[in-house]
Amino acid sequence: MSKQVRVRFAPSPTGPLHIGGVRTALFNYLFAKKNNGVFFLRIEDTDQNRFVPGAEEYIMESLEWLGIAPDETIGKNEKFGPYKQSERKHLYLKYADDLINSGNAYYAFDTAEALDLHRKQHEEQGKTFIYNWHNREKLDTSLVISAEETAKRIAAGEEYVIRFKTPVDETLQLQDIIRGEVKFETNLLDDKVLFKSDGMPTYHLANIVDDHLMETSHVIRGEEWLPSMPLHVLLYRAFGWEAPQFAHLPLILKPVGNGKLSKRDGDKLGFPVFPLEWKTEDGISSGYREKGFFPETVINFLALLGWNDGTEQEIFTLEELVDKFDLNRVHKAGAKFDPEKNKWFNHQYLMKQSDSDLAEDFAPIVAEKGFSSFDCAQGDTLEMTKLEKIVSLIKERANFVSEFWDLSDFFFVAPTSYDEKARKNWKEETPALMQELISVLSEIADFTSVNIETIVKDWMTKNEIGMGKVMQPFRLSLVGALKGPHLFDIVELIGKEETIKRIETAIATL
Ligand code: GLU
Repeated sequence: MSKQVRVRFAPSPTGPLHIGGVRTALFNYLFAKKNNGVFFLRIEDTDQNRFVPGAEEYIMESLEWLGIAPDETIGKNEKFGPYKQSERKHLYLKYADDLINSGNAYYAFDTAEALDLHRKQHEEQGKTFIYNWHNREKLDTSLVISAEETAKRIAAGEEYVIRFKTPVDETLQLQDIIRGEVKFETNLLDDKVLFKSDGMPTYHLANIVDDHLMETSHVIRGEEWLPSMPLHVLLYRAFGWEAPQFAHLPLILKPVGNGKLSKRDGDKLGFPVFPLEWKTEDGISSGYREKGFFPETVINFLALLGWNDGTEQEIFTLEELVDKFDLNRVHKAGAKFDPEKNKWFNHQYLMKQSDSDLAEDFAPIVAEKGFSSFDCAQGDTLEMTKLEKIVSLIKERANFVSEFWDLSDFFFVAPTSYDEKARKNWKEETPALMQELISVLSEIADFTSVNIETIVKDWMTKNEIGMGKVMQPFRLSLVGALKGPHLFDIVELIGKEETIKRIETAIATL
């Protein structure tokens, strides 16, 4: 029987989660669910200097909002806990020691100043200093002194790091699920630091130890980690552990040009690059949630960044994605981020919402505009029915609930001005016609859209009045412009009294 699928999302809490990180989380989630496996979240906070308060909570909240919460994490099914590396601190030294004892790692005592000097000297000769097989025996390491001497220096409190002893002269031919075979020359790798004398492991050591202890079956992460893959595979080998399978996801590219979409691109390019808003003393970075995107929208557009199911289908629910997702269908080429298309996706999901849900989202906006009877808290069902009706008439033209007010304000307030261009439709004979229209309207008992339309049109036909002569000034009186949904739906909703009042105002003003 093959091993249980266990995949992880392993962010470092160094700030808000970038949308690329969310895509990584999503692909891990989809892969886990597709294979009846486990998706877990591990917080990689070994680099205390880069720790940002609030980032961990932000990550959790983002995944919750999107509906892709992990099965195991801090405080939830802690089968392999703790799920936070700073709380696993005590574990790692033993593994670093194991590597020393098996000859796969060594102590290095070079001071920061000494290393800086090496770097500078190399730079002066137009070279880059790289710490590896070609110079490690000329540097200040345990490889060139006795075990006793090494122990003495450590006991004396000298600062050290533990470095990986990268094997020499090997070509690694590794398999990546997305990229196929990838080759690396070990001679080109540097001897990465695995452990520091402050008692903290580096990312590389902690990541490998934890993936092993937490029984990770597949490592699915961004392409920026591909250069770390040879070291990681070599570490598994040095420990004598079976390595997980690797899949490196394609970069997410800026909407224009070829660069990678970065954290800084966000508000600079006019769209969020974070799932949720992030506030600091320096300002606010906008988030998809606060911009009025539905979580379903974000899931959908992220899923298509680097993956498709081989058909033309573009709209996928999370369940469908779980059903169809296949790592073998993820491409290696970078995927362009398309903020305009994302709005289109939101429109699709907006159209799928029920009118009552949309009305509920819209109600607080209406209440804020001064129509407190639409405040849901007051539970006025009559008003809510009306709001649902309004929403049903205008939603077609909106991408976001936040656009509803501008599309529907005339349902709530009479026009205070009239569109300049549309005024041309107000002619000499218009006031008299509008006066007649008022008489027709006031006679109507059953004031419903279809009935009003039939009666008004009958009146026009009988008196041989052209459609445009009435309909455009009529709309202008009610809306203030020649826009909006079906006119008689507006008439029904604002009611007889208000309709007549608006026509009278137009006659007096225009
Ligand atoms: N902590 C790394 C990050 O911030 C994890 C990379 C990996 O998945 O191995 O993305």
